[in-house]
Amino acid sequence: MRKFLVGAALLVAVVSLPAQQMVTETRDPAQQQDADFEKSVKEWTTQPYFISPLVDHLPVVKGIPTPKEVLGYHVGAPYKLTYYADILKYYRALAKATPRVRVDNIGKSDEGRELVVVWVASDENMKGLQKNRENLAKIADPRGLTEAQVKQLVASTKPHYHLMGGLHSGETGPSEMLMELVYRLATETSPLIKQIRDNVIVSITPVADPDGRDRNVDWFYKGLDEQAAVAQGASGAQGAAGAPAAGGGRGGAALPYWGKYVFHDNNRDINLSQVSMRALVDWYFTSYPPIMHDLHESLSLLYTYSGGPPQNPNLDPILFTELPFFSNFELSQMTKWGMPGVYTHGFMDGWSPGYLGSVAYNHNGMMRMYETQSGRESGPGGQGGRGTGTGAQGAPGADAAGGQAPPAGAGRGGQGRGGRGAGRGAEGTTTGAAPQAPAPVAGRAGGGGGGGRATVPTGRGGGQPREWYRGIPVPTDAVATFSRRNNTNYMQTGVLSGLQLASMFPNLVVDNFYRKTLNSINAGKNEAPYGYVIPAGGKDMTRVVTLVNILRVQRIEVGIASAEVKVDGQTFPAGSYIIKRDQPYGRLAKNLLERQNYPDPNLTTYDDSGWTMGLAIGADVKEIKDKAILTVATTPVDVASVKGKTTGGGSAGMAVAHYGSTNMIAFRYKLKNVPMKIADKSFSAEGVDFPAGSFVIAAGADTSAVKAAVEELGLTAAALSAAPTVAMHDADIPRVAIYSSWNSTQETGWYRHTFDKFGIPFDLIFKERVKQGNLRQAYDVIVMPTQPANRAAVFAPPAARPVPYVKTEKFKFLGDYGSSPDITGGMGGEGVDAFAKFLDAGGTLICTGSAVAFPTELGLARTVSAGDSTTNAFYAPRPLINAEIVKPEHPVFYGYTGPIIPLKYLGGPLMSVGQPDQAGILARYPGGDANVLSGLMRGADEIANRPFAVDVPGGYSGKGRVVLFSNNPIYRWQNHAEFNMVFNAMMNWNDLAAPPAAPARTTATSGGGR
Ligand SMILES: [Zn+2]
Repeated sequence: MRKFLVGAALLVAVVSLPAQQMVTETRDPAQQQDADFEKSVKEWTTQPYFISPLVDHLPVVKGIPTPKEVLGYHVGAPYKLTYYADILKYYRALAKATPRVRVDNIGKSDEGRELVVVWVASDENMKGLQKNRENLAKIADPRGLTEAQVKQLVASTKPHYHLMGGLHSGETGPSEMLMELVYRLATETSPLIKQIRDNVIVSITPVADPDGRDRNVDWFYKGLDEQAAVAQGASGAQGAAGAPAAGGGRGGAALPYWGKYVFHDNNRDINLSQVSMRALVDWYFTSYPPIMHDLHESLSLLYTYSGGPPQNPNLDPILFTELPFFSNFELSQMTKWGMPGVYTHGFMDGWSPGYLGSVAYNHNGMMRMYETQSGRESGPGGQGGRGTGTGAQGAPGADAAGGQAPPAGAGRGGQGRGGRGAGRGAEGTTTGAAPQAPAPVAGRAGGGGGGGRATVPTGRGGGQPREWYRGIPVPTDAVATFSRRNNTNYMQTGVLSGLQLASMFPNLVVDNFYRKTLNSINAGKNEAPYGYVIPAGGKDMTRVVTLVNILRVQRIEVGIASAEVKVDGQTFPAGSYIIKRDQPYGRLAKNLLERQNYPDPNLTTYDDSGWTMGLAIGADVKEIKDKAILTVATTPVDVASVKGKTTGGGSAGMAVAHYGSTNMIAFRYKLKNVPMKIADKSFSAEGVDFPAGSFVIAAGADTSAVKAAVEELGLTAAALSAAPTVAMHDADIPRVAIYSSWNSTQETGWYRHTFDKFGIPFDLIFKERVKQGNLRQAYDVIVMPTQPANRAAVFAPPAARPVPYVKTEKFKFLGDYGSSPDITGGMGGEGVDAFAKFLDAGGTLICTGSAVAFPTELGLARTVSAGDSTTNAFYAPRPLINAEIVKPEHPVFYGYTGPIIPLKYLGGPLMSVGQPDQAGILARYPGGDANVLSGLMRGADEIANRPFAVDVPGGYSGKGRVVLFSNNPIYRWQNHAEFNMVFNAMMNWNDLAAPPAAPARTTATSGGGR
């Protein structure tokens, strides 16, 4: 009887689910609408077909504030962008006024701003919110549930649809639109909205990078002020053209910073290193939304992501059916409303797991993504926004055009950008002042593979104005005149259509989430590899711990073997890390740890083609094909750690072994007042092997401080009973500066982030400081990370009108991380002379990536040149490859056990070294297909035997030192295995090889221009 009742209740629950109808009523005639809104929106919408019946009205509900009632303007108003504090103020006012809206604090941003998630749903759904979250958590890990229990869960759980705006700060529209969307979802009584509110739980990240938001809004209003001043002062026409970024849009290449460290790469942070990104991912695991929809701006007029080829086989095939299901529905609806320029399929693929929104598809949900055309001003004089710098005009290329990996991947300037998706803000242009050409028609802009590779069958369409994946062609001039309100109309109509589909098939979304999870668990039970082992007992476990903790941030289950493990004919010691694949995130573990087997060399890809974590971080990860791994006894790891240890009890000083830990430099700076030497050669003491590069601390130092630091940093040390007899040199700590150009701060941002993480103090210097000269008085080492630093960039003239980046009372978010009265123009001859004097006085200059062009083009690197590039046939979207150390005894390679080491290939110039300086070649690319480890490199022979690390002592007049890394050893907190090349060069800055006897002033490149 009891059993029967439960069954009956279940039956009732299932049967009582209403059949979902396609609702077509987009307005409730009985609901009062905001006449002022309708009038304004009609005025700001530049063509009648740029709006839909979903968003041409806004209800008025007594007691519940519209955006205008709090902000003073409707969303999409010309010349208006909202600061983060005001955005929060609006949501809080809304939450206060209706139980349908709630604001949750989820942490702090990199700069300490409050991060929130805003919820909106029906009263009933809000009451059941916690229960629904718990249900989704169970579905996200259904192990131990019966089929009946799962069925009951799926039937009684609402789909949770998360929307994200403002990840890319220059893409300003989404954070505005979302305020209106939340208000509409909370208040509108139309059948369409009611169906969404009743059947779907919506949450949003109003601004994923609030730090960058505020800087961008400041920059926007500063631009408007400047425009106004110019218009007032000068006679119109010519005036307005000088003001930067007045259009808002992307904020323009001229705004030097978005977030604390990075611009656009916050959406390439595969290891989740940035604080704000990490907070959002941590929040994900409190709620498990099956859908995360990330709103960007770059394409014309609206692109909705469908997960095109190449598709990552570790992502569920169901994902690749539901993505086009959603995007086609939106395309269909918007086409029905007569909205031109909406398309899908033509732009981004489904290969990389490294986007912020990937947290959803990496964890068996669905990442969705839009690129909407940025808004321009539609008010009086609004077209002044055009042609006023990349902020206004650059919109169509924002996400898309900028970082597009050039066919010649090793070509100048190509490297260091973040692939097609990244880097416009960072390295897009040399001067940052050149207006971007608008995308012609959406066809080619969205053509993905695009441009130079048009003949390659990418499956991405033919670039016709009319395509099978686009409803109505983009009208002439639409791109150039698209207003802020058009932008809001498009994005909101699309999002509402996506929500409508979810509301029509609520349990489909939830059931798919369950199926994908189940498939992941089953894949680990039935398909090799069944797991991974990271052996204990390696000499350096610090990088292993780094890797394991990144897996843990992704909530991948990792265990520690409680006893010795024998699998696949190998034996691993107790304490080894075990990752079993029969877990909900088993496929993600495989995706991150395996070598990426790129499916088709003819297919281009939107982002990195390879990311194998063990290779990039420098940890030994063993793939296990033996099913026995699944039954190995383990203790779960929450956070992995390693304690360093000191052996021996001697009193003749101490030694700390350099086994390749990136913490070696942290140790040196942590004990900056303790004098240390560095061993030139390896030695053994107290039963410990100390490779060349190990620290040696003389007797009499504060041994307890040394031991504590060794323990904390996971290093290996010994208290010596006799001082070592090998040759040593002083480990004198360099005073370090990082040089940054104003128009390319992102790559330097990753260096800043990395230096901060390891406790390396540095000054961030710009052309202003360089031009003051006396660099050698202040610094021993200057690091110039990859950035435009060739002759053209150095001698770029300043803009006609200065572009200040300074903090003022009105614009308090500007002037962070450096400030300048004019950020345009290069350092000029004055700057080059200052660097020459720095070298002449014995300084060390370390250049990476495209910055190698600085010393090589300006006569500071003897016979080294970097002008060659690969051909158009070469294509290498950042794979991992083999590299060869040719000077293993050189300090740059202390801690490495080459000669062959894995390297994340990032393009960069191809270097040549003249005969007199051949001895300075430290490492090279062997090249060839056989040396591609993970991901794609087409034309791998083209880089064969090219050096990528060169030590150039006496670069200028026989003094000083230039160390060149044409690849980029510090990239997006990914290639930890390479960090030590830069760290070693820094720690041994004045102890590298002596220059050749006869200093060779450089060849043809010297002289001119200085
Ligand atoms: Zn974006």
